[in-house]
Amino acid sequence: MITFPKTLLDGYRSFRTQRLPTEQSRYRELSERGQSPEVMVIGCCDSRVSPEVIFDAKPGELFVVRNIANLVPVYAPDGGAHGVSAALEFAVQVLGVKHIVVLGHAQCGGIRAFIDKIAPLSPGDFIGRWMSMFIKPGEIVEQREHETMQDFATRIEKAAVLRSLENLMTFPYVQILVERGKLKLHGAYFGVAEGSLFVLDKATKEFRSVKENEGIVSSE
Ligand SMILES: [Zn+2]
Repeated sequence: MITFPKTLLDGYRSFRTQRLPTEQSRYRELSERGQSPEVMVIGCCDSRVSPEVIFDAKPGELFVVRNIANLVPVYAPDGGAHGVSAALEFAVQVLGVKHIVVLGHAQCGGIRAFIDKIAPLSPGDFIGRWMSMFIKPGEIVEQREHETMQDFATRIEKAAVLRSLENLMTFPYVQILVERGKLKLHGAYFGVAEGSLFVLDKATKEFRSVKENEGIVSSE
């Protein structure tokens, strides 16, 4: 007897009867021609923040890598195994994506654990080490005076997006393609409760609401 989670079996059955019939030809085509997504999304593992759902993406449209707190490490060809860097290399060098979107979100557990410095973040554990890449040596992340815990968390969640974008530029091929205008980097932030999306204005380092259409124009 094989057991498998019921929600997944039910979900697959619904996929087969509802979504698959409308997208069968697309799946066949993607199978024959291979994938050629134009957008890579680097998001958080958080179950509430699924890029395919938020961007209503069809199969083959988004190349997604998800990790705790949507972090991108700095370029480090040190012989170690680097999951995000491998995904990035594949997306940029092999697939030739035109856009990379770092998608942060509200109520991020990774960020919360990091700023709370709770027990599991001991130096030897994985989350602690993973989150430590977010700060530069000597940098101090502190709650400001008169800043609520929630505002502090939001500020750091957004800062994590900026840091990931900064770290992306440490990859030589990313830097070259960005400078040539062949690759564009974007930051975004998802508000879980409202389902709201904010896009980073790199000039001001502020996130602007897509719903309110705060000067955001679409591009190919
Ligand atoms: Zn998160």
